[in-house]
Amino acid sequence: LNRRLAEFGTTIFAEMSALAVRTGSINLGQGFPDTDGPDEVREAAVRALRDGRGNQYPPGPGVPELRAAVAAHQQRFYGHRGLSYDPDTEVLITAGATEALAASLLALLEPGDEVIALEPYYDSYAACIAMAGARRIPVTLRPDASTGSYGLDLDELRDAVTDDTRLILLNTPHNPTGTVLTRDELAAIAELAVERNLLVITDEVYEHLVFEGEHIPLASFPGMRDRTVTISSAGKTFSFTGWKVGWVTATPDLIGAVRSAKQFLTYVSAGPFQYAVAEALALPDTYYTALRDGLRAKRDILAAGLTSAGFQVFRPSGTYFITTDIRPLGAALSQEGDGFAFCRALPERAGVVAIPNAVFYDHKDRGAPYVRFAFCKQEEVLREAAARLQKL
Ligand code: PMP
Ligand code: GLN
Repeated sequence: LNRRLAEFGTTIFAEMSALAVRTGSINLGQGFPDTDGPDEVREAAVRALRDGRGNQYPPGPGVPELRAAVAAHQQRFYGHRGLSYDPDTEVLITAGATEALAASLLALLEPGDEVIALEPYYDSYAACIAMAGARRIPVTLRPDASTGSYGLDLDELRDAVTDDTRLILLNTPHNPTGTVLTRDELAAIAELAVERNLLVITDEVYEHLVFEGEHIPLASFPGMRDRTVTISSAGKTFSFTGWKVGWVTATPDLIGAVRSAKQFLTYVSAGPFQYAVAEALALPDTYYTALRDGLRAKRDILAAGLTSAGFQVFRPSGTYFITTDIRPLGAALSQEGDGFAFCRALPERAGVVAIPNAVFYDHKDRGAPYVRFAFCKQEEVLREAAARLQKL
């Protein structure tokens, strides 16, 4: 393994999911739903397979039906904010958001460029920035015990920009903290990007999983449409994380650049699923509302369970993750506030798997006492996990 990747090893998600299987634990670690998405969407995939649609290489930018559906989705949910995209020149289909992130970073970064990312950040960001030969500059989201949520220090963000900064890599709603950046925070980020002439790659895969407040696409702020690469995917919105269908929306120039990288990563993404996701995106508003309401109820069940088990809970406004502080459990149980040690011991102790947030930090000490639990699971599974944790 080369020096650029040597520090990364195996992703924590694979490690923890394997641990869950080995110990027969409830897996609240890796974020994937334990029930599949809508039957009619699954049927659409079967139909596409059977009818021979997409069984051979689909077009490089994605099948026209899906590009049109992505553009229609942007128009439907964000058109009132003045955001719309041309399906032929401003939409690119990728193998999940993961490939969209990789292709965007590889296409837009020069070796030595600096990339500002909000820490804690999703684990593929650091690896892809490294593969591009660029440098990551973390700006830490700080937990505020009094408000029970995480905040962005805008001065710290401003101070992080240097002459070498090429882009900001943003994620809202934010994994793992569940923070949804506010209109004011996004406006300040947008102003900074315009002032310092930065690009922004914004990972909005949890755009429909917002329980309080609202998701506002960064690209809809003044001056941002031309400098923003927006990424989303079908995994979270339609509960088909295994299908790996994602997309990028941006100007034709930026899409062209990302496509140049994408064509040599995967060339194209799996065909039949693209037709099915096109149908999924057109589901009525009631689908999206029910998804959100169902997850809000699950959040509340797990948050209550974790609180009564003694964790400090940072109540997420979005995503399907809850970040907790384990220190209130006490020095012995929390292994002196060491989330890694805590998560490695938890399956044996309680039959539950979680993720240590420290993996998402460069400043490991800042992330040490935080542990993430996923709540995209059936309510009875969450209740059982809560009951097990209660006995800790
Ligand atoms: N970004 C974030 C913030 C995520 O949490 C995830 C995965 N769950 C991804 C990207 C990857 O999405 P996909 O599965 O579509 O590749
Ligand atoms: N995004 C999911 C999470 O944060 C997992 C994705 C993965 O396993 N790479 O849990």
